[in-house]
Amino acid sequence: MNRSDKTGLVFFPAFDWAITPTHPERQERLLYTRDQIFEEGLMDLPCIREYKPRLAAFKDIARTHFCIPAVKDQVTEAHLIAAGGALVIADALMAGEIRNGFALVRPPGHHAMRIVHGNRGFCNINNEAIMIDYLRKKYGLRKIAVIDTDVHHGDGTQDIYYHDPDVLFISFHQDGRTLYPGSGFTSEAGGPTAYGRTLNVPLPPGTTDEGIHYVLDNLILPVLADFKPELVVNSAGQDSHFTDPLANMKVTAQGYARLNEKLRPDIAVLEGGYAIETALPYVNTGIILAMAGMDYSNVVEPGCVSEGFVMNQEKKEWVEKVVAELTGIWERRDTIDIEVLRSKSEFFQRQKTVYYDTDGINEYQTERLRLCPECGGFLAINSQAYHHSGIQHNILALSIPYNGCHECREEAYEEYETGISRKVYDYVYFQDKVSDTYRGYSREKDREWEE
Ligand SMILES: [Zn+2]
Ligand SMILES: [Zn+2]
Repeated sequence: MNRSDKTGLVFFPAFDWAITPTHPERQERLLYTRDQIFEEGLMDLPCIREYKPRLAAFKDIARTHFCIPAVKDQVTEAHLIAAGGALVIADALMAGEIRNGFALVRPPGHHAMRIVHGNRGFCNINNEAIMIDYLRKKYGLRKIAVIDTDVHHGDGTQDIYYHDPDVLFISFHQDGRTLYPGSGFTSEAGGPTAYGRTLNVPLPPGTTDEGIHYVLDNLILPVLADFKPELVVNSAGQDSHFTDPLANMKVTAQGYARLNEKLRPDIAVLEGGYAIETALPYVNTGIILAMAGMDYSNVVEPGCVSEGFVMNQEKKEWVEKVVAELTGIWERRDTIDIEVLRSKSEFFQRQKTVYYDTDGINEYQTERLRLCPECGGFLAINSQAYHHSGIQHNILALSIPYNGCHECREEAYEEYETGISRKVYDYVYFQDKVSDTYRGYSREKDREWEE
C-alpha cells in the first residue's frame, strides 16, 4: 500500500446530539480538544490533513447491525456522521493519502452490539465495526485487529466479532466487577470457531501508565506480531485518565501518547473520555502528535505528577497474572476441535441477557452459529426485548458472513422465510454479506423492505 506521510483527522462534535444537556457524553467533549489543537498550531502542520466527515449510508449500518425495527429508528443524522467520519479516514488510508488517521467523532459506539434495540452505554451504533465491515466489503481486507483502550469493556465490538477468527479483539479496561458494563473477563475468549481471538484484560482500579504498558509490551504487541493483521484499529477511549469522573484509573496523557506510539494503529476512533477540560484536550493532542511521529513530551496536563503515579505490589501482581493467563489462552487458540463439536451438534448456541442502561430495555437472546466446514457459518439470533414503556419486540435475525458458503446461504434464507410464515416474530431480518443485501420484514405491515 502506497502511503503518504500524513496523519488524517476528522472532527465531529455533534452539536445537536446529547442524551441530556448535562450528560457526560456531550458536545463539549470535542470542543475543548479542537481549541487546544488549533492553539498548538497542529492543524497548520504539513503532516496533518483534516477531512470533513460525511454521512454513512443506512446500508453501511445494516451491514453490521440489526437495528430494531429499522436503521432509521436507531440513528440520528449525528450517528450517521460519526460513523461516516470513520469511513472517510478509512477511504483516505486505502487511497494512500494518509499514513494513519484519527476520527475524533461522537456519539461513541463500542457498546453497540450486533442487535440494537436502543442506546446502551451512550452508544447506538458501533463506529469501528461499521468501518471494519465497510473496509472488508469495499477493499477486501480480511484480517483486522481492534485494540480497545477505553476504560470500559468494549462489549459491543466483542459481541459483533465473537465468532470471527479474522478479527482479533483485545480490550483492556477497569475490572467489570467495579465498572459498567460489568463484563470483559478473561473467560470471554471468543466462540469455538474464533477461540482466543477475543482477549479481555480486566485491570484493577488505580492502574497506572506502568500497568497499561505492561499489558501492551507483554500481551498486545506479541499477540499482534503473531496474528499479523492487515490493519490495526484503536478504539481510543480516554476515560482511564486519572481525572476522569466516570472511572478510577491513573493513566496520564503521556501514558496514552506512548501507548499510541508503540501500538502504531492505522486508524484510531474516539470512544469515551469525560474529563472534558483536564484530560481530553491533552490526551487527544498527545495521540495526534504520536500518530504524526512528532515529539509529544511537552504535553502535560494539570495535576500530573512528573514522576508518574505508582501502583502497589498487589496491583502489579494482578496485572502480571492476567497477562500470563491470556498468553496461555492465545497459545491454545487453535486447539478446539470443531469436528468433535460438529459431530455432537450442527449448531453452537449461546444465550445472553443484555441491559440497555440509557433506554431501559431488557433483552434476552439466543444465538445459534452453524458450525460449517466450508465457511464461517451463518448466525440465527432470536431476540426478545422488553422496553420500560411496555413495548415488546420478538425478532429473528439471520446473518451470513463474508465468506458464507452456498449451503449456509440457502439454509439461512429458508429459516428467514419460515420465520416470516410462522407469524410469531414481530420482525424478521436477513443480512447477507456475500451479496451485500439487507432485508427486513414487519409482521404488522406484512411487508418486506431493504436497507
Ligand atoms: Zn468508556
Ligand atoms: Zn457455510
